[in-house]
Amino acid sequence: MGRRQYPWVMADVPWSDAQQFTRGTHLGLPLLSWGIAPRHLLATRRQLRAMNRRPGGHGPVALLYLRHNASKRKVFANLYLIAESVPCLPMTPAKWTALAKANLARRICGTCGKDVGYVVPTSTGLCWPCFEADDDTTSLAA
Ligand SMILES: [Zn+2]
Repeated sequence: MGRRQYPWVMADVPWSDAQQFTRGTHLGLPLLSWGIAPRHLLATRRQLRAMNRRPGGHGPVALLYLRHNASKRKVFANLYLIAESVPCLPMTPAKWTALAKANLARRICGTCGKDVGYVVPTSTGLCWPCFEADDDTTSLAA
């Protein structure tokens, strides 16, 4: 068994005047392990969204790491200062229109140009009939 990969380090952190225990740094940001991030000061983007807030142009101030046991992978999450976050802007008619346009574009087939009623796969950009027709021609040519 080797040494700890992320040993405990006392460090200056943006969310406290006093030095806090961290797990060192990762990508230049203080690294925190599960359970040591102060919940009332730091939040992930999704946690901010649940509070109807957003980072508001501020970058993450810390990284949280966890181990995903099923995949044996390490997962990093950006943590933002709740104090720096700003309220989410309400949806306007123009924003709804833009969203509808973007969703419509995802449903249009690249070959027949029709709104096929479902989101076409980004890997092919084709609706199912066009994909099958395309597949037939390649198999005939081969
Ligand atoms: Zn099509």
